[in-house]
Amino acid sequence: MSDLNRFRYTMESCNHCGQCKWILPHRMSGWDFAEVCPVHHHFGFDAYSGQGLVNIVREVMEGKLERTDELADMVHTCAACGACDVNCKSVRDMEVLETIYELRHDLAQAGHLPDSCRRMAENVSAGCDPFGVPLAERFSWLPGDFRDDPDSDTVLFAGCSASRDPGPVLAAIRILQAGGVPFRLLREEERCCGGALWRSGQQETAGDLIRGNAEAFRKAGIRTVITVCGECFGAFRSIYPRFVKPGFRTVHISQVAAGLIREGKLAFRQDARPLTVTYHDPCMLGRLSEEYVPWEGEIRSYGLHVPEKHWNRGEFGVYQEPRDVLSALPGITVREMTRRVEESWCCGYWTGQADPECAAATADERMREARSTDAEAIVSCCPFCRTALSGAGDPLPVVDLAELVAGRLA
Ligand code: SF4
Ligand code: SF4
Repeated sequence: MSDLNRFRYTMESCNHCGQCKWILPHRMSGWDFAEVCPVHHHFGFDAYSGQGLVNIVREVMEGKLERTDELADMVHTCAACGACDVNCKSVRDMEVLETIYELRHDLAQAGHLPDSCRRMAENVSAGCDPFGVPLAERFSWLPGDFRDDPDSDTVLFAGCSASRDPGPVLAAIRILQAGGVPFRLLREEERCCGGALWRSGQQETAGDLIRGNAEAFRKAGIRTVITVCGECFGAFRSIYPRFVKPGFRTVHISQVAAGLIREGKLAFRQDARPLTVTYHDPCMLGRLSEEYVPWEGEIRSYGLHVPEKHWNRGEFGVYQEPRDVLSALPGITVREMTRRVEESWCCGYWTGQADPECAAATADERMREARSTDAEAIVSCCPFCRTALSGAGDPLPVVDLAELVAGRLA
């Protein structure tokens, strides 16, 4: 059952300061690119922001606002990118994103879900991934002559995006093979990571997928899970501990590549075309990838949490390794955007997005920022970011980091 009451402290602590809509002043380079909340940017009302959503939860709890389909549609325009959360936490100790997640859970429990979210669960119940690809076709992109190491305790988790865009996973395979890293695929044992379903408020259905994957890893003796997708990475780190005690560590292919480069195990062509790029930090690889640490206790006056509570503020996401990889590639020059690392602007992709226009405007805004750096291409580490950003108006080429690395191997 949902439990909005757990977040009463957050609702009562919001002082309407508005920091959840802006990057921190010392990071600003001016008025342009200072906003951080995509829905507030698009709609221009406080209701569409971390502040507004926290206030809405309070009104729902106090019976002043009804749970309706219209409210659910509005709540699911939010990309759950978490930018409001880390910026709020720079001024106050409260859980904005967790409150938004719980509101979605509460609405889903009451039967209020956008069709986009409902379809995800229906697809999973019908033996498909959330996007409708049958499980039997999940690895149909795998070359017939591919051989992995069935005894390895490291799994390359392909993720649902591979069915639509296998390039990044195939590139990851080339990187692991070039670096001499033994690994295996789970093939028919792999299911959707469950992250998108959980974030849509359908936490019970997500729990089934999460427990299923964790059990498949346990049975296969997996100790390390390598992901290519930022969404999967964030799900394993920030959602799985809510359901299971993960007996594995999660690493992203950008971290593996950075390690292999440091150890001198990857060699690159020196004659590759020079390219100036800018790097887009995916939300679920960056600020939303810190490990979830459960907390139960008492909140006393002035917000004193007893026992002490662990706060995820986004600062320990995967930010440096993708940049280390880019700087190691011959011919690549990196130009940074204003909104980067934990202040990154979301690409706009949200599987359950109830308003495609809002998603498109979010991607457009990111592309406008990328263009302001004079980069020739935008690089990301998450196939969903590539999908979203490629759909922006007047897009720069959107390059996946693993593909860039694999394409420049000697
Ligand atoms: S930053 Fe936090 S306290 Fe300030 S308005 Fe936003 S949610 Fe409320
Ligand atoms: S999670 Fe992202 S889109 Fe949603 S309110 Fe917060 S900053 Fe805005």
